[in-house]
Amino acid sequence: MSNKLEEARKIINEVDSKMAQLFVKRMRAAEMVYEHKKEYGLPILDPIREAAVIEKNSAQIEDDVLKGYYIDYLKHMMAISRAYQYRMQDACSDVGETRDTGANDEMTIHMNLGQDSYDIVVKRGLLAKAGQQLNLNRRALIVTDTGVPVSYSTALAAQCKESIIYTVESGEASKSLDVFGQLLQTMLDHGFSRKDCVVAVGGGVVGDLSGFAASAYMRGIDFYNIPTTLLSQIDSSIGGKTAINFGGVKNVVGAFYQPKKVLIDPDLLQTLPQRQIANGFAEAIKMSLTSDKALFELFEDQDIKDNLDEIIIRSLKIKKAVVEQDEKEKGLRKILNFGHTIGHGIESSEGMSELYHGECVALGMIPMCGEKIRQRVIDVLKKCDLYRELEYDWKKITEAAFHDKKADGDTVTVTMVNEPGSFELKTMKCLDVIELAKSCLGG
Ligand code: NAD
Repeated sequence: MSNKLEEARKIINEVDSKMAQLFVKRMRAAEMVYEHKKEYGLPILDPIREAAVIEKNSAQIEDDVLKGYYIDYLKHMMAISRAYQYRMQDACSDVGETRDTGANDEMTIHMNLGQDSYDIVVKRGLLAKAGQQLNLNRRALIVTDTGVPVSYSTALAAQCKESIIYTVESGEASKSLDVFGQLLQTMLDHGFSRKDCVVAVGGGVVGDLSGFAASAYMRGIDFYNIPTTLLSQIDSSIGGKTAINFGGVKNVVGAFYQPKKVLIDPDLLQTLPQRQIANGFAEAIKMSLTSDKALFELFEDQDIKDNLDEIIIRSLKIKKAVVEQDEKEKGLRKILNFGHTIGHGIESSEGMSELYHGECVALGMIPMCGEKIRQRVIDVLKKCDLYRELEYDWKKITEAAFHDKKADGDTVTVTMVNEPGSFELKTMKCLDVIELAKSCLGG
């Protein structure tokens, strides 16, 4: 063996031996971090801090090639540290959360709703393994729509013992009594029993419609949801609200009916148009503003696309917490309507109807934020392509927002956010809400 090789091996052995000791030291420190997080109810995953540590430490390495490898090493080390903390979080079920290790994370969020409890599983590539998660050893009515890639429903059908794929037209019009009847008829025609199931493979339209059909058929059969839009992955697929539109009124007929399981596969968003992704971001930003400062800061400081899984998981946790405390929407769940008063007015007023719901809510949030943070919110909305300057017809917006109220006399309770991560409910005169919106949005 040459001297040079011997020398190199000696150095590597010394470094490895020191690294072994440092590794133990680091993991002991991770234990202390975990204890602190447990005490203060903080999440184990803290992407903002991780990014800051990576930036600071990698700045010490001048060689660009080595810097790249070092960043990979640090990321891996952080994943190990997190996995160790999750392991210590033995009583995962207490906080309703489990996940496996490494980059290929699987997270299970448990919705604690007594008899109606269920799991939401988040993992890339999950659709291809749906058979391992769901009981598909029976008849399954797979409901999808014409805009969802056909390969999603066929991938699921391939894992079912016996399935019927029912494809409705994409769009809100499918949330109708007619289409609802068609789903029930299909189940009847195929001899569905109480033991069979309905699986939604689509966005909020498919989920709301098929969930309601599952709730009604034989007084309720099992319902699984595999949401395929960002909005449905973070919002509509959990919480158990199912509905169709009737008599020209949105979501007026429906039921609270919880799914048996929700499978969230972020890979399915790869085919979703960018504008639909932004539409989903509006809901996540909304939830961050009322309930999760760190998520709002993630929107501000981080590359959003790189953090999609984190955004989904954090949003789900907010929705979980709200739904668990207020399953039937008697109080707290109203915070999910942050930005909706003006947003709904904008959405319903003529001429604005080509805007998506999330785009309208995004604009509706701006006046409901305190002056101190308003510009930060606008900047985040711009970053997500959710901010636009419009010609507002305030008369029509007022009518649509407060159609059952006299704008000059009646009051409305709105959710206001003065600091990301917190909210207050404020009762205001309808006219004052409109004046505030005018002053913030223009017109
Ligand atoms: P959507 O279901 O209409 O889907 C939007 C569009 O994306 C559709 O054209 C659809 O075909 C297409 N699409 C879906 N997945 C795709 C994919 N992976 N790749 C390419 N295209 C895809 O809209 P949405 O925003 O998901 O949901 C809106 C509905 O959700 C509304 O009816 C609303 O009332 C409802 N909603 C329900 C709740 C609830 O709690 N139940 C909450 C919020 C919204």
